[in-house]
Amino acid sequence: MSVLAGRTALVTGAGRGIGAAIARALDAAGARVALVARTESELRAVAAGLAHDPLVVPADLGSADGPGAAAHAALEAFGGRLDVLVNNAATMLRKDSDTVTIEELDRLWVVNVRSALLLTAAVLPAMVDRKAGSIISISSISGLRGAPRRSIYAATKAALDGMTRALAMEYGPRGIRANCVAPGVVETAMWKENLAKPGVADAVLDLIPTRRLSTPEEVADVVVFLASDAARAITGEVISADGGIHGTVNLWPKV
Ligand code: NDP
Repeated sequence: MSVLAGRTALVTGAGRGIGAAIARALDAAGARVALVARTESELRAVAAGLAHDPLVVPADLGSADGPGAAAHAALEAFGGRLDVLVNNAATMLRKDSDTVTIEELDRLWVVNVRSALLLTAAVLPAMVDRKAGSIISISSISGLRGAPRRSIYAATKAALDGMTRALAMEYGPRGIRANCVAPGVVETAMWKENLAKPGVADAVLDLIPTRRLSTPEEVADVVVFLASDAARAITGEVISADGGIHGTVNLWPKV
């Protein structure tokens, strides 16, 4: 199925975890993908498995000019055409909220939200020119439901949801769609350490109707759908890909 044949995409955080799965799935659907993150060796390892002449763009999205430079590199390589932007890169902070420092707060805002806004701003003119584009940001169950020890992270994810709804309204008339995918618990580096603690995996699974963690590939499949014309009526949405956590509450927990 080459639903994205001939299209181009930029994926941030594409060196591992969910971003790597998204890059692979977009490539498998026919798109040419620009992979962005700081660790060039990881980007090259993912790119080596892609079929459609991928572009490796090492960049620190936490710097002031990193997002713009990454967008520029992709647009230049793709002849000024970018069909899909996936804002996936993020950094996590699990910490009691009364101990958060101003440096931590700034870092999460800059990496998780400012970079997405700057990248979006940098690619929008090219999308507007062609009256086509799909901007997909990876937010989180944490931005939708209250969870402890992550108030700043949750705030950055809710900010992406808000940014997305605003973009949908502002650029919808110019042919551009904006959506979020909100994963729940996906077994990547972000969760590995926490899940290894005694009892944590069982307690977390008890909250998930499917009784299993999501895979990066399952999140990536939703991204491919949103990037494709099959989702042409969908914009301004936050779509949960979380095994049902967002819509449910476990009133019959194991005791
Ligand atoms: P990982 O920590 O496995 O990967 C994060 C990616 O982002 C890496 O490629 C990393 O590369 C990149 N990145 C981080 N900081 C920067 C930076 N300053 N500049 C450029 N790239 C950066 O994360 P996941 O795959 O687990 O998460 C992906 C997305 O999904 C995130 O937005 C996360 O918030 C969201 N999410 C994840 C969940 C989960 O359970 N895993 C649940 C809900 C949402 P490098 O370090 O080389 O720069």
